[in-house]
Amino acid sequence: MAKLFQHGTLAMLVDGLFGGTLAVSDLLKHGDFGIGTAEGLNGELIILDGAPYQALADGTIRVIGDDELLPFANVNSADFEGRAVLSDIEMKDVDATLAKELSYQNTFVAIKISGTFRTVQTRVVKQQERPYPTLSETASKQQVFNAEDVRGTVVGYYTPDLFHGAGVAGMHLHFIDDQHEFGGHLLDFKADQVKLSWQLLDGLDLNLPIQDAEFMAHEASDAEKIQQSISESE
Ligand SMILES: [Zn+2]
Repeated sequence: MAKLFQHGTLAMLVDGLFGGTLAVSDLLKHGDFGIGTAEGLNGELIILDGAPYQALADGTIRVIGDDELLPFANVNSADFEGRAVLSDIEMKDVDATLAKELSYQNTFVAIKISGTFRTVQTRVVKQQERPYPTLSETASKQQVFNAEDVRGTVVGYYTPDLFHGAGVAGMHLHFIDDQHEFGGHLLDFKADQVKLSWQLLDGLDLNLPIQDAEFMAHEASDAEKIQQSISESE
């Protein structure tokens, strides 16, 4: 059984700790499948088959460099154990569809959905400059993108409610198309027929940037404020 490796926490992003603290090459030692964001909240990361892609707010996608630093990311070593074909599905049905296949609500699950999507809507956060704002202050600066009849892959995780604040509770899904021209944090999709793959993970390996002076000196918001700010950012 594999664990979910996570660098940083959602709570740190909520407080505006967007400084990069883990190199991409170090993240990739912990897995070949995952999601995240880059230094300065610069775009949405999609790690697929070991290649790290960065969807940027100008609508382009690039391969992010090994030495670039990340404030937050999740990866695992892909070894999908379950598969199902989903017909006439949209994003809000993913929870219930997966629940028909297995009980997963109390643990972490890696989720991959591939095929041709009728519609896909993503958002991409925009790079911030120091002094960094809080996460909810960046919400109005996100770019939203739409595509139709696009072949691609949904990459992401389910996180139990209990871990909200450490991670993003519920489904946290990103998307990248096969041409590597369209992607981001997934807001919605509709598809006639796509393939769902899943992998149960038996724990969380949470890595905090203790070598980073800014993180170590930071006075974190209390849990209640974090929860409130997360809902304002969504
Ligand atoms: Zn995201």
